[in-house]
Amino acid sequence: MPAHPTPPAPDRALAAPLPVLGTDIMVPLVTGGEVPYAALDYAASAPALQRVWEDVAAYLPYYGSVHRGAGYLSQLSTDLFEQSRVIVRDFVGCRPDDQLVFTRSTTDSLNMMAMVLPAGTEVYIFETEHHATLLPWRRADVTVLPAPASRYEAVEVLAEALAARNPQRPGLVCVTGASNVTGELWPVAEITEVAHAVGVRVLLDAAQLVPHRPVDMRDLDVDYIAFSGHKLYAPFGAGVLAGRPDWLRDAEPYLAGGGASRRVTRHADGFTVEWQENDNRHEAGSPNVIGAYAMASACRALAEADFDALVAREESLLRHTLTGLATVPQVRVLSLLGQDSPRVGVVSFVADGWNSSHLAAALSAEHGIGVRDGMFCAHPLVRLLLGNSPDQPDQCGAPEPLAPGERPVNAVRMSFGAGTPVEHVDRFVKAVAQLVRDGARWTYRIEAGRCVPVR
Ligand code: PLP
Repeated sequence: MPAHPTPPAPDRALAAPLPVLGTDIMVPLVTGGEVPYAALDYAASAPALQRVWEDVAAYLPYYGSVHRGAGYLSQLSTDLFEQSRVIVRDFVGCRPDDQLVFTRSTTDSLNMMAMVLPAGTEVYIFETEHHATLLPWRRADVTVLPAPASRYEAVEVLAEALAARNPQRPGLVCVTGASNVTGELWPVAEITEVAHAVGVRVLLDAAQLVPHRPVDMRDLDVDYIAFSGHKLYAPFGAGVLAGRPDWLRDAEPYLAGGGASRRVTRHADGFTVEWQENDNRHEAGSPNVIGAYAMASACRALAEADFDALVAREESLLRHTLTGLATVPQVRVLSLLGQDSPRVGVVSFVADGWNSSHLAAALSAEHGIGVRDGMFCAHPLVRLLLGNSPDQPDQCGAPEPLAPGERPVNAVRMSFGAGTPVEHVDRFVKAVAQLVRDGARWTYRIEAGRCVPVR
């Protein structure tokens, strides 16, 4: 068998990674010994920044109820919660009159947006989105746009659909900033221009964008933004929905309860409620002050770091990944908008003859590298990229070589970010090359739907 060329070495003259937790965790290999865990699944959940952990730990002794108590720690916690809102607002460039609601996650934020839409709103989404963007619009009139083959086509397809719409009805385009499957950056500013030209608003799903690029709502001119703390190095259960105040203020609260209500009056036949009109309207219940504070801490850490240097660093690691994978002819990197499209540190791929779950299991068990396999909550997109039909079963099948010409049903995704050492990407590239060239050294089986090493 011809030897593969050695993957090129990464650029060593890079900015230092931001310190994150977990880089010193040792994990056992099935083949014996242990290695430092290489966390390359940032797109699912990124490790916590050291700084976030220190800030949260320093605050915890002072933890108290938010918006409730008269006590010192309650007031301190309330101040911290509201200051966190200001920091996160600044981080994403909110306009002065925008509202910013702390939610549980991007999924929660997008579902909240779906609940606050004015009656009769038309929603436009591409079929290639994450399920969190595809599915929440049960009360709206949804137009699903076909997958574009380029950034240019994305704007064209949208412009065409919008040209045919009824201008009397409110409209919303919900679009991702960076794909969680391909990492490709969507032309958000151009999409916004086209939408605004016909009075349609834009909601940016920034779950994969905010951790990787500076984002300014005013520059992009988006009306709303949604993202999650756990992908932004702050895994304490908070998310954000921010944007234009009118729809948020005019809608029924997402959750009914304390905090969202200003005054409740008992009548013979029930209650009348005056709801809050500020950010708290959709934050009923005790707020997640630690989650909000952790997000603010992460925003501060990224803002104070040289974000441009972090982007340059990520782009260098991305080039290293892509040129390394390109030395393995059996590997195909997935792309929707064209292989030259700009992308963040998210790379999905398949390897000829390999069941992707098998490859991901071997990367973990034999190399201590944590990636993700599957369809990444974007089933229509992954099926499209793999050339599979919607009728094809999604089960990953036995961990054995695929028959010649047989298509994998899912993909492997590696993803990284501001805390990733060069060595992790280097190890990943070498491990993929070795596995594809020589095969797995261990035996695997399917257990509870997962591919696992036989022990
Ligand atoms: N949107 C995109 C592009 C994502 O990648 C994800 C998560 O993977 C989500 C939305 C949903 O985020 P969460 O799981 O934090 O709600």
